[in-house]
Amino acid sequence: MAKKYKKKNKGCFNCNINCSRYYITPEVESEGPEYETLCSFSSRIGNQDLEFALKMNQYLNTMGVDSLSMGETIGWAMECVEKGIFTRDDFDGLDFTWGNLETIQTIVERVVNMEGIGQEFARGTRHLAQTMGKGSEKYALHVKGLDVICGDPRGIKAFGLTYAIASRGGDHLRAEPFFELTNRFEEAEKRFGTRDAANRLSDNGKAKLVEFTERQALLTDCLTMCKNVGLSMDVLDFDLASDLLRAGTGLAFTGDRVDTALKNCITNDRLMNIDFGVTAKDDTLPHRFTHEPLTEGDSKDQVVPVRDMVKDYYKIKGWDEHGVPKKS
Ligand code: SF4
Repeated sequence: MAKKYKKKNKGCFNCNINCSRYYITPEVESEGPEYETLCSFSSRIGNQDLEFALKMNQYLNTMGVDSLSMGETIGWAMECVEKGIFTRDDFDGLDFTWGNLETIQTIVERVVNMEGIGQEFARGTRHLAQTMGKGSEKYALHVKGLDVICGDPRGIKAFGLTYAIASRGGDHLRAEPFFELTNRFEEAEKRFGTRDAANRLSDNGKAKLVEFTERQALLTDCLTMCKNVGLSMDVLDFDLASDLLRAGTGLAFTGDRVDTALKNCITNDRLMNIDFGVTAKDDTLPHRFTHEPLTEGDSKDQVVPVRDMVKDYYKIKGWDEHGVPKKS
């Protein structure tokens, strides 16, 4: 696809990584696609026509629609039809067979124009599954109403914990614990007390890793820094950030002060979510990731023991067993 359509790399101002791309097809030209869009409009919905995925990328970006959630709602509908839970009569006559490009294009346009069943799809997978029922909730891949990315957490356990505890739902950027994919075993032992923290298939040490990278992620956001660099490349630490803040503001920042501020911020975020009605029951993963082991590949037989991982995470945060921060 890159050989055929990519014209150049693109990047943010002054960045020499240039992690984005620009492409031209016979029908459209646009920036991207991001990995999640490409996956959401190809393998996630049974589509092998990558030119079509590029067309959807351009259209969704122009219309301001989240391609990841759009792809998941379509994938959910297709799986429900495959399993015989729903038929085309349940979807305004649209045939949600895997990879049906006509249906995909039509439902996307109906969402954009808020027409017919498009009004329901626009509200996401959780809404669709809750209102249409018949056991379809089991196939809705969301956390707290936000659809999860295409990275299957059964093979990346710290990411699984991240989706589960993220305050706005299945959000990998909450902590993006890329470290678990690095095989930096000695570094893992030094920083997180176990070599397993650098083993993507292990759940051991992952609560400690996620609790750390959650703060590191927040720090990159606060410094308006790119997460690819500050977090995924593990460049940013609290002392370095305090040096930058001291230089920029003249105020007496230290690594410890920065870290305390980050911890307080995460606690306040949690307290707000509790006010909005979020409980420990919401800190979980879709049924598939906790009960259906993968059947092949390098992550064969894996599921995510999310309950125990979340408990470990609460303990490290100093929260009670219901995920409620203790009064200090
Ligand atoms: S997203 Fe990050 S790595 Fe990519 S071009 Fe922008 S600053 Fe560079």
